[in-house]
Amino acid sequence: MKYQKLVDVYEAIAATTKRLEKTAILAEFFKEVDEETLPEVVLMSLGTVFPPWSEEEQGLADKLLMKAIANVVGVSVSNVEDQVREQGDIGGAAEKLYNKKAQTTFFSKPLEIDFVFTNLRKLAKISGDRSTSRKIAIVLELLSSATGTEAKYIARTIIEELRIGVGEGIVRDAISQAFDVEKSIADRAHMLTNDLGLVARVAKEEGEEGLKKLNLSPGKPVKPMLAQLSDGIEVSIEEMGEAICETKYDGIRTQIHKKGDEINLFTRRLENISKAIPEMINYIRNAFPDEDFIAEGEIIATKDNKPISFQYMLQRVRRKYNIEKAIEDVPLKLYLFDLLYFKKPMIDEPLAMRRKALEEIVDTSSEQINLSTMLKARPENIQDAEDLFNESIAEGHEGIMIKNPKEPYIPGIRGKKMLKFKAEPETLDVVVVGGTYGVGKRANFIGSYKVALQDDNEQLKTVAHVATGLDDETLAELTELMNKYKIVSKGTKIEVEPRIILEIAYSEIVKSPEYEAGYSLRFPVVKRIREDKGLRDIDTVDRLKSMFKG
Ligand code: ATP
Repeated sequence: MKYQKLVDVYEAIAATTKRLEKTAILAEFFKEVDEETLPEVVLMSLGTVFPPWSEEEQGLADKLLMKAIANVVGVSVSNVEDQVREQGDIGGAAEKLYNKKAQTTFFSKPLEIDFVFTNLRKLAKISGDRSTSRKIAIVLELLSSATGTEAKYIARTIIEELRIGVGEGIVRDAISQAFDVEKSIADRAHMLTNDLGLVARVAKEEGEEGLKKLNLSPGKPVKPMLAQLSDGIEVSIEEMGEAICETKYDGIRTQIHKKGDEINLFTRRLENISKAIPEMINYIRNAFPDEDFIAEGEIIATKDNKPISFQYMLQRVRRKYNIEKAIEDVPLKLYLFDLLYFKKPMIDEPLAMRRKALEEIVDTSSEQINLSTMLKARPENIQDAEDLFNESIAEGHEGIMIKNPKEPYIPGIRGKKMLKFKAEPETLDVVVVGGTYGVGKRANFIGSYKVALQDDNEQLKTVAHVATGLDDETLAELTELMNKYKIVSKGTKIEVEPRIILEIAYSEIVKSPEYEAGYSLRFPVVKRIREDKGLRDIDTVDRLKSMFKG
């Protein structure tokens, strides 16, 4: 099938802001696509060519992409940069430049969807010697066969920002509409496999019956179940009637998958971090029976047996060299709290059962592998839960989790089944969309960061400028990242791709017409960089509104 067809669909979807219309357009298109191409089209409609848990990325810097565009249209790189500044994105700039040159046709043979998909995937496989020029060669081949609109979307797929306002929710609805399957059945299949390409294909080939057979499988991570804020230990326990209270550890949420001999560890963004912490794999292997399983826990870094900064954990999982030294310097510990699969899927069992099974199979005799500290609380013994909270804070942890023991595990939801109660006031996760260089001593650093939340349609809305809370080291690190993701610069201001997630604290939420969210934050302070979170994990304008005390 021709890539131009997919591009026409992108354009039609981008032209409407209405969710139902977007869904209908996509559904019609899904019906037309054959089985083989369908999974590719599904990923590409989400602006990517990799499944969410893939370790692969295309790894082509924006600068190189601009260079390739300049080369194909025969203008200078600074010309492309000017266009990017005007259009606000590389894709838009490419289209404009192609159209200016409309008289000359660049394309020889029309692009096929499969050809574009396969070549974009190839980018990730290239490494080592001359990798840059080999990557450029692929991009040049694609771009020189493209029309203006095709070039726009090829560029946007490379930077994984399609800008057509389509997220997983719309794609899921479109699958259910296209193949006439119950939405709840498609949702469940997605939740359990985390693979919309597969869901679409099974829906097309086998309908609801096929979808119902899809289930969790070790090796394929699922989105973790998330927690809501508790309004207070007492009210939460009273509401649940009976609760499992556990220490809330401040490390990295980890989903552990054992399939055959292989053990893999995934973060909440489904990143595979097994290579960065090989020692943990060994500890886990020794502590579990030799069966396939999926378990969850929090990995924390310790020094003299005390938990240390979460930021350290992040550095550890990013590290590619000197891993041996890091293993020696800062020991890691795992605190397990859930079991999703053991011999069979377990998520439909109530938490109390899953926890019991976990306790039965895990050997906690080593220092590194532990079960989370927990107790059962009822309205009669609230004091025990409060003691657990105080102990947790005294030991340097974050607070407690309050969980409903009767509830199943539902991947990807943030519900009342699991609550968190922390000592610190609530923070917001935001994405950086721009920044301003400092003055004087800080002229080489980006000192102020323009940050945004997402609205219902997954569109970004600016909400504040944050300039405090950063030490010199973090400032240097952030400045480097900002340059890596830079789209355009103007004087001391730059705009960046929305990739960097910050957790910020603030004193108060205020109404503000100056920001797209309609609200802003007083005295925002950066608490930390959240590399364990992605764009879809940031907070929403709705949440901000609900927290506004007006
Ligand atoms: P936060 O910023 O509060 O860590 P979050 O947005 O990262 O929140 P939430 O789901 O809101 O994630 O909070 C729950 C997180 O707390 C889990 O994702 C997990 O990483 C962590 N955690 C620590 N200890 C536990 C525990 N005993 N049970 C469940 N989660 C735990």
